[in-house]
Amino acid sequence: MVARHAGDVRIHTFVASFADDNIANATHIIESRSGLVLVDAQFLAPYARQFRDYADGLGKPIDRLYVSHRHPDHWFGLGTAFGDVPIYALTETAGFIKEHGEDSRNDHWKLGNLAPSTVVVPQEMVKPGEAIIGGVTYLFEEVTDTEIDSMLTIKLPELGVQFVQDLIYSGTHLYLTSHLRHWSRVLQDMLLSDYDLFMPGHGLPADKNEVARNIEYLAAAGEAIAGGLTNQAFKDFMLHRYPERKCPGIFDIYLPRLFGGASDY
Ligand SMILES: [Zn+2]
Repeated sequence: MVARHAGDVRIHTFVASFADDNIANATHIIESRSGLVLVDAQFLAPYARQFRDYADGLGKPIDRLYVSHRHPDHWFGLGTAFGDVPIYALTETAGFIKEHGEDSRNDHWKLGNLAPSTVVVPQEMVKPGEAIIGGVTYLFEEVTDTEIDSMLTIKLPELGVQFVQDLIYSGTHLYLTSHLRHWSRVLQDMLLSDYDLFMPGHGLPADKNEVARNIEYLAAAGEAIAGGLTNQAFKDFMLHRYPERKCPGIFDIYLPRLFGGASDY
């Protein structure tokens, strides 16, 4: 779908299923007059292929793809459908995929042929700062200690759009970490900004109301954890408090890490 159209530039988003075990992975395209810039690569092979088909259907060359962070639901699709595209990432993200990408793939053996058959490591490093690509101004920033230790965000000031990926879970349950307070402060800065469209890593494009709802979710989770809830009791509490949010499968991914010290792959 097209989320914004301003001048020569269109912002597209492609969202995987909200149903079953899917977690509504959201990947995006900035279409300028001359070409395409992609953000993230999807998780499961069928969605990676569909995202590639969507991009190819626009009839312009893919100039590059940015990987936001090292969680596999954002880069597994590189190996499925984007091996021929220049891949950019922060040094930390590229280093992790290079060092642990195969471990991560092996760790997801249960996915069978939904997982990629190879790992594609980002070769190009993103430096925080400004760049002009296809006539569009991009601001690259590294955000630390939120949903992940290192997250790339991309701002397009001329369009009022921020690609925030997993800083925002739009209409779905959040993947929680031990950095809830700092994460919340980062979201509060977004509320004070002049941007009005926030492209998430999961779910549909978000406005400031959804950013505020994410802040409220983080606060409720922090209080529940401070009150001693863990694992299933914590999950039950959050499901009861947020019945409208989709994709509860995310709890089973992060609870063993948040409360049990499971591996981060
Ligand atoms: Zn994610």
